[in-house]
Amino acid sequence: MTHADRPSAPDTTPPDATARKDFLREKVAEDALSGRFGRPIHTRFPPEPNGFLHIGHAKSICLNFGIARESGGRCNLRFDDTNPTTEDLRYVDAIRDDVRWLGFAWDEERFASDYFERLYQIAETLVGAGKAYVDSQSEEAIREGRGTVTVAGMPSRFRGRAVEENLDLLRRMRAGEFPDGAHVLRARIDMAHPNMLMRDPLLLRIRHAAHYRRGTAWCVYPLYDFAHGLSDAFEGITHSLCTLEFKDNRELYDWLVREAGFDRPPEQTEFARLELDYTVLSKRKLLRLVSEGHVAGWDDPRMPTIAGLRRRGVTPEAIRAFADRIGVARSDARIELATFEHAVRDDLNMQVPRVMAVARPLKLVITNYPETQVETLDAPLYPHDVPKTGSRPVPFSRELWIERDDFMEDPPKKFFRLAPGREVRLRYGYLVTCTGMVKDAAGEIVEVHAAYDPATRGGDAPDGRRVQGTIHWVSAGHALDCELRLYDRLFAVPDPDALPEGGDFVAALNPDSLVTMRAAKVEPSVAEDPPGSRYQFERAGYFISDPVDSRKSALVFNRTVALRDSWAKVKAR
Ligand code: ATP
Ligand code: MG
Repeated sequence: MTHADRPSAPDTTPPDATARKDFLREKVAEDALSGRFGRPIHTRFPPEPNGFLHIGHAKSICLNFGIARESGGRCNLRFDDTNPTTEDLRYVDAIRDDVRWLGFAWDEERFASDYFERLYQIAETLVGAGKAYVDSQSEEAIREGRGTVTVAGMPSRFRGRAVEENLDLLRRMRAGEFPDGAHVLRARIDMAHPNMLMRDPLLLRIRHAAHYRRGTAWCVYPLYDFAHGLSDAFEGITHSLCTLEFKDNRELYDWLVREAGFDRPPEQTEFARLELDYTVLSKRKLLRLVSEGHVAGWDDPRMPTIAGLRRRGVTPEAIRAFADRIGVARSDARIELATFEHAVRDDLNMQVPRVMAVARPLKLVITNYPETQVETLDAPLYPHDVPKTGSRPVPFSRELWIERDDFMEDPPKKFFRLAPGREVRLRYGYLVTCTGMVKDAAGEIVEVHAAYDPATRGGDAPDGRRVQGTIHWVSAGHALDCELRLYDRLFAVPDPDALPEGGDFVAALNPDSLVTMRAAKVEPSVAEDPPGSRYQFERAGYFISDPVDSRKSALVFNRTVALRDSWAKVKAR
């Protein structure tokens, strides 16, 4: 049995030599062969610790760690923590846990915030070489002066400042002499450059804010572009893989590492970011869902975060298989949720034991079954086509719980479950024929009666008569009470980021993303399993006992994924 809280061992399977190579892997293989970097392949995964990682990050993790592993290279985990107002140690810890849980081990752990001094020294060097200047315009004026795609920018009136004055101002910026926004350091490149990012980009800004690691040691903080490429260069990275929205930043990346004097600097290559239907993949948006209470936390099982998926019951193997299956492309494309769910089912099907649980119980009394008799049926843990074996004892008795939906008083012809006069198979048990029912004063069915055929133990009739339907059940006297949390897609529309008329994505939340069944019943074979155990509840779906809330005395199961894509059916109707 698998447990969510057990970190999986790093995958040491050798790379499949016959695997189809994507364009990134082809490029890396070529560079490894030519030795053009003069050092082994070195990648990095560079999250900003301003939130929990999501499935989009998992794609980047699989790519960066995967490529390093396949090419005998190295991969760093680097926290790109240059923004004092949004980052937190709690996120650093969560990111470490998630990367490990996904099955990867980093060669070096680095923090961009350890490079503040080095970056500052480069800033002074750039100033000394006339390649950077202190601009004292407001941030708004700077933005306006940048021009547009069709109109060249306007040089700042401070652009011509003498080196000595720039150096003096920069040192006083660092010394804390100025308030936020009084000055910024800009690269001096080209205010008419066709690439807007090259029009004297900002390198350092003043922020009098405590950093979660550096405290108040600094009050000038590097901007993303200034810190990112140079951090790569400091670490000897060869391939800096990032998502397509950074395409225009590449020119600035190259400019900075060149001006800083790096020989054979790292090279940035972009790939398509993962966008998944019915969810949002942006830490900023996910943070809003958490802070506004739309979900129970970063690890809410409806969240596309690694922590949420883990608590939902998804395995790291399934996430890696999904990343493999979607591959790497050069242009953005949304991925259907069904693609992810297939990967999850494929993986769980092979791993997890079968169990019977009833979500909305209805009492079934087998009136001709001896009142005190209990049989123990030997039920397989895995179906025959799964490479695992084992069995579990399942008690059978006169009173059972069946699924309320598996009985109809007045069914249509194609209803192959239980109905007056109809015969059905109780999984692993007997064939039973419905003989009647009991209703309460309000007319609600509270009990169904049936007669069993003692000759059909195991589910087959010796006379060969055909019985179409098989239903699941649990023995009423032996069942354990439990709560089922039926999770569904978080959003009601495929692309919550693209609502008409700029609608807020929060408005598209699916109100039925969690349905709780508080009076559910499960067979007793699960009683001793630790929280985080995974199962297939027969005919219902894959479930995990909630790693956080489930107790022996109060079992809670999260639905990881239904057995089939019920939405596809809804659409097809
Ligand atoms: P978010 O908007 O969720 O904060 P981000 O890109 O700002 O995403 P970072 O922490 O900066 O988050 O990302 C770390 C790495 O993960 C980057 O290299 C980034 O390109 C990659 N990444 C982030 N989101 C995705 C995604 N949806 N698909 C693939 N890679 C992603
Ligand atoms: Mg970011």
